[in-house]
Amino acid sequence: MSSQIYDCIVIGAGIQGSCTAYYHAKNNKKTLLLEQFFLPHSRGSSHGQTRIIRKAYQQDFYLRMMEESYKLWAELERDAGVQLYRCTGLLVMGPEDGQYYSAVKDVLQRNKVPTVMLKREEFNQHIPNFNLVSGENALVDTSAGVLYADKALDSLQRLFQSHGGVIKDGEKVTGIKPGPVVTVTTASGAYQAKSLVITAGPWTNTLLSHTGMALPLKVEKINVCYWREKVPGSYDVHNRFPCFSRQDGPEVDQIIYGLPSNEYPGLMKVCYHIGKETDPDARDNQTDQSDIQVLQRFVARCMPGLVPVPAVVESCLYTLTPDNHFVLDCHPTYSNIIIGAGFSGHGFKFGPVIGKILYELSTGQVPSHNLSPFKITRFQTPKSAL
Ligand SMILES: Cc1cc2nc3c(=O)[nH]c(=O)nc-3n(C[C@H](O)[C@H](O)[C@H](O)COP(=O)(O)OP(=O)(O)OC[C@H]3O[C@@H](n4cnc5c(N)ncnc54)[C@H](O)[C@@H]3O)c2cc1C
Repeated sequence: MSSQIYDCIVIGAGIQGSCTAYYHAKNNKKTLLLEQFFLPHSRGSSHGQTRIIRKAYQQDFYLRMMEESYKLWAELERDAGVQLYRCTGLLVMGPEDGQYYSAVKDVLQRNKVPTVMLKREEFNQHIPNFNLVSGENALVDTSAGVLYADKALDSLQRLFQSHGGVIKDGEKVTGIKPGPVVTVTTASGAYQAKSLVITAGPWTNTLLSHTGMALPLKVEKINVCYWREKVPGSYDVHNRFPCFSRQDGPEVDQIIYGLPSNEYPGLMKVCYHIGKETDPDARDNQTDQSDIQVLQRFVARCMPGLVPVPAVVESCLYTLTPDNHFVLDCHPTYSNIIIGAGFSGHGFKFGPVIGKILYELSTGQVPSHNLSPFKITRFQTPKSAL
């Protein structure tokens, strides 16, 4: 056992754990970040080049958090000296009376977020190579864009270390002993800290089982599909093609979203916001492709400039809660164990604000956002693992 007692141990070096560790070290807390795989890796939820950042949400509380998150991302860019955000705008589409479209429009307008409403007759002047479905409306959240995910992780982990933080990768946590000083064991040793933050993504319940509880989390494998442009450049980020998001349309009851061609030249990323349940340690055995069939129909009908067969298919994991809202809370029995989990396929853009909130919880401060939507008690009976 190391004789050092850390202020905080963070388990999991995805975006949430890396941000949490960073805010601890930046505030002079002795912090250890433990990661089961060697970094960087592509077996969790935070890998890959790009994620969408947006304020277009159906709930005001997410918008409030995003207002701060944009500022924190800008600070991180400055501190790291690396571009992490590129503004592209986000095209939101759906039937005017559809629940998703109308809720997003209301939140954006009520909060005076810069938004452009696109009239049907001028739609293709602004967004070429896209067929707006009959009966659907469109708006653009103009400050939305792309976050460079892999660069963000690398920058955060570098900044964390420059503030004195310690990363031990390739060290899987195999035991947690709660107490006023928490002991965490791995194959290589044991470590102690005054507080513990669990940000283990799809493996959250495996870790919580050491503390006598489980959350109602479901892990799904998402097929991350890239589609080839018929005319090179037609959906390219350099030609200002936007990200998009569409729900309540004819063939889907879930969101289909896309990001302009960027990381793989000539290939646009278009994905379905739903996958099939999987064990995170056996994701490659989950071979369901029904989401790809939905996407093929969508691409053929709405994006005529793309070949309607994916050119590249990668994979990523979602960790879903029953209501798709996050878990940001203290452990119900051990107040110095903090849980950040269930990011339900939309957590990356919140990384800095979530890292700051988990830091506040772990150091006993009043959180700077209203955390009632994220409490564990909202799940009527958190399942006991005992
Ligand atoms: C295809 C796809 C598209 C997405 N698009 C967007 C988007 O456009 N915008 C957006 O905001 N969000 C998006 N998301 C969601 C976002 O990427 C996730 O919410 C976020 O990455 C979750 O991060 P995390 O840190 O909670 O989990 P992870 O990244 O999975 O990190 C958890 C870490 O914990 C480690 N770990 C687990 N168990 C142990 C252990 N026992 N010991 C040590 N380490 C352990 C894991 O190895 C892993 O590195 C998308 C996700 C996917 C899959």
